[in-house]
Amino acid sequence: MIRNDKNESVVSHVLPSLPYAETALEPVISANTIGFHFGKHHQGYVDNLNKLAAGTEFAGFPLEKIITMTVGKADKAAIFNNAAQTWNHTFYWRSLRPKGGGDVPAVLKHKIEASFGTLEACKKEWASVAMAQFGSGWAWLVLDGDQLKVVRTSNADMPITPGVKPLLTIDVWEHA
Ligand code: FE
Repeated sequence: MIRNDKNESVVSHVLPSLPYAETALEPVISANTIGFHFGKHHQGYVDNLNKLAAGTEFAGFPLEKIITMTVGKADKAAIFNNAAQTWNHTFYWRSLRPKGGGDVPAVLKHKIEASFGTLEACKKEWASVAMAQFGSGWAWLVLDGDQLKVVRTSNADMPITPGVKPLLTIDVWEHA
């Protein structure tokens, strides 16, 4: 941790760059939507996180550590929400790619078939889980032990249970 002469952490969180151009997901997601989502919303979460962490016990801590220290604590909801949304959006951008789709790699296809029956059934369940989210949140494909599952979380929450690994996510907030 780097500290200044007042013993305050001077390391702050930064917005990771988008892994493709803002126009790269058109016509599925417009450059306008990505511009706002990345440049305003995601940047806003990072900025708020830095403001909330400055001069506190969380200053200079890595993002994941702040999330695990604040999850489920009502008095830490503001910092949790901004830290979790910073993490979720970075994960979300990496869940998408220009000219995506196509064939699923064989290992993943077997895993999907073992867990859902077919790729179509996986897509259908994931879509229905996403559509059934009431209000803001996320729909995740996760690896839970040996099984693939789809789960949804509300607002800034993410699957954080030990042994559950997020693989892909869909942002189901209105701004997405
Ligand atoms: Fe979002």
